[in-house]
Amino acid sequence: MLNLVLFGPPGAGKGTQSHKLIEKYGLIHLSTGDLLRGEISQGTELGLEAKKLMDEGVLVPDAVVIGMISNKLDANKDAKGFIFDGFPRTVAQAIALDELLESKSSTISGMIALEVDDMELERRLLLRGKDSGRPDDANPEVIRKRIKEYNDKTAPVAEFYKNQNKFTSVNGIGSKDEIFDSIETVAEAL
Ligand code: ADP
Repeated sequence: MLNLVLFGPPGAGKGTQSHKLIEKYGLIHLSTGDLLRGEISQGTELGLEAKKLMDEGVLVPDAVVIGMISNKLDANKDAKGFIFDGFPRTVAQAIALDELLESKSSTISGMIALEVDDMELERRLLLRGKDSGRPDDANPEVIRKRIKEYNDKTAPVAEFYKNQNKFTSVNGIGSKDEIFDSIETVAEAL
C-alpha cells in the first residue's frame, strides 16, 4: 500500500496536489477538511459543532477527526493506498493514525511537506476566499488564526515523521506542475 501524508500550512496547495496524486496513483483521498464540510452541508450534529470552530479558525477535537478517518479506512478496505490531506494535524492524531494503520497491518509510507512562506499563504487564502465561498478564507483575522494553529499544533507533527525517517519537504512555490514533479520524485522513491 502507498499511504502518503501530504503536509503543509493552510493554503500550501495540498488539495490541488492531492488531486494530481490520485490521478497518477489511484489512491483514495482523505481530506478531513472536506469530510467536515460534507458534515456541515448535510446539517449533521457533528457538522454543526465543527462549523463553529472552523469559522473561528481553530482545530476541531482530535476524537472527531480520528473517528471520521477510522470510518473511511473501514469503508475502503481494498484501496491501493490513501492520501491523507489535512490529517494528522496534531501529534495525538499522528499517534492514532499509526495505531489505526497498524491494526490493518499497514503503515504510513511517507510524509511530503509543501514549504510556503506565511505572506504567500495569506495572499493565496484571501484570493481563494473570493470564489471558494469558504467563510474561513474570507477574513484576514481567521486566516492568521489558522496559520497560528498550524504553527502551534500542527508543525510538531513534522518532527513525529522525521523521527521515523519518513519526512521529505518540497518547495511549494512554483507552477502546479513543477511542484507535482517534485512530489512525484519523492513518491517514486517510497
Ligand atoms: P486548510 O488546510 O486550508 O486550513 P482544511 O479544509 O484542511 O483547510 O481545514 C479547514 C478547517 O477544518 C480547519 O481550520 C479546522 O478547523 C478543521 N480541520 C480540518 N482537518 C482537521 C484536523 N485534522 N484536526 C482538527 N481540525 C481539522
